[in-house]
Amino acid sequence: MHPLAQLDHQFVWHPFTQMRDWLKREPVVIVAGKGAVLHDIRGREYLDANSSIWMNLHGHNHAQINAAIQRQLKKVAHSSALGLANEPASLLAAKLVKLTNAKAVGRASSRAGFSAPKQSDGGSSVASPHLNKVFFSDNGSTALEVALKLAYEFTRRTRSAGVSPATRAKVQPRFLSLEGAYHGDTVGAVSLGHLDLFHKSYSGLLFKTDKVMSPYCYRCPFNRAKPERADAREYHQCNWECAGLVEKKFATQGRKGNPYAAFIFEPLIQGAAGMIPQPPGWLRRVTEIARRHGTLLIADEVMTGFGRTGTSDFGLRTVDSGLLFACQHEGVPPDFLCLAKGLTGGYLPMAATLTTQKVFDAFLGEYGEFKTFFHGHSYTANQLGAAAALASLEILQGKPSICARQNLEKNLHDELQTLWSLPNVGDIRRVGLIAGVELVRDWRTRAPFDLRERAGIRVCEAMARRGVLTRPVGNVIVLMPPYCATPVQARKMVRAVFDSIREVFGKL
Ligand code: PMP
Repeated sequence: MHPLAQLDHQFVWHPFTQMRDWLKREPVVIVAGKGAVLHDIRGREYLDANSSIWMNLHGHNHAQINAAIQRQLKKVAHSSALGLANEPASLLAAKLVKLTNAKAVGRASSRAGFSAPKQSDGGSSVASPHLNKVFFSDNGSTALEVALKLAYEFTRRTRSAGVSPATRAKVQPRFLSLEGAYHGDTVGAVSLGHLDLFHKSYSGLLFKTDKVMSPYCYRCPFNRAKPERADAREYHQCNWECAGLVEKKFATQGRKGNPYAAFIFEPLIQGAAGMIPQPPGWLRRVTEIARRHGTLLIADEVMTGFGRTGTSDFGLRTVDSGLLFACQHEGVPPDFLCLAKGLTGGYLPMAATLTTQKVFDAFLGEYGEFKTFFHGHSYTANQLGAAAALASLEILQGKPSICARQNLEKNLHDELQTLWSLPNVGDIRRVGLIAGVELVRDWRTRAPFDLRERAGIRVCEAMARRGVLTRPVGNVIVLMPPYCATPVQARKMVRAVFDSIREVFGKL
């Protein structure tokens, strides 16, 4: 075993990893990367097919981002945001406000019989941005913690204004999120989650939140359609019972006299829940229900942000290629927008929580009123991270990147079609540059594998032997290439999925 691998085995505890399995074999030790390719210490090359856990946007070792970090490094690496402002963070905040408030030129179109409702007048514009304050932190979980604490305290303050102290004491903001939700690993973010596998052990540490059905067309009990060789959203037969359940949930909570403080969701596609894409119009419909009940919207775009959800689902939804955030695809302006992962192009740990003037104003007052938001991290508004983020956004907005993303989307879409011939592929779902391939015992019955069979893990291990790296979410193989991936690389990624499924489950 390589000495570095030995050190890893001896001292490093890896996240989301059964370390007994890990210790059975020599790990891949990454020493370099260029574009979509990673190199290990043994001289082997791998395609980074999940963008280093959904983060890397433009590829590794990107000259423009490297240069931006180096330029900043020559000035200063970090200064505290507690009491000090800095140049790149100020510029980045302004840029994020501008980009997140941009509106679609055309409306989201729908082919699935559920047209997006008309935009409510709560819409935003760049002239008067809906989201106009940016709170920086370090990672996706902290971005959610910030939104959670702000929404909690904002609701407590606004709902208890002018009421008696006894009533005020009863104002207990409550949160609603989606089944299978994952919003991070800190205790608040875990409380918002509903993934038993990750969260159950810690239930004693968590506060109670509610969950509501997520629109998982492929496994929806209301979907009467027999399995077909197509994305389940294209042929589902139902009466949108999932949206009806959301309505019911809000109504029930409203009758208790304590409407939900906030509704937390990943827009367009839920990631760790199993790459569950939403049928067009669902997001618009359910967020309008939430709004009607006076509930704040917290959009977790940790995975979906920065162009990941692309420009189309090929026939299911077509959107403006200049829009970088999933919420914008359905014209949904959230009250909180949580960003991380791709913010710095996947280079440095940085996150941002954007919110509205209204929320900001609720924390203003004389010092002695103690309305301050008492929250923050040592690395808040890190200058190196902000410099990397500015460079990444510039690349993202440039024509070459937009064209590359559109081409990659088309390539990925076309290549993925080859997988339908495999009987162990139940569903192939893609939103922009995020693809999930759900493995099943037999596509005709949708019968799932037991998680203990490690179907997803085994396929990903076989892919790694073919030089393609990714991680599954349960029985779903994830492809999320860096935007610089070439057609040949996209083909190699999908081919590796194809060959690995055949290897693991036997030949056709
Ligand atoms: N939200 C979503 C949607 C995520 O996918 C993740 C991480 N995979 C997080 C939050 C947490 O982000 P982090 O790992 O950076 O804390």
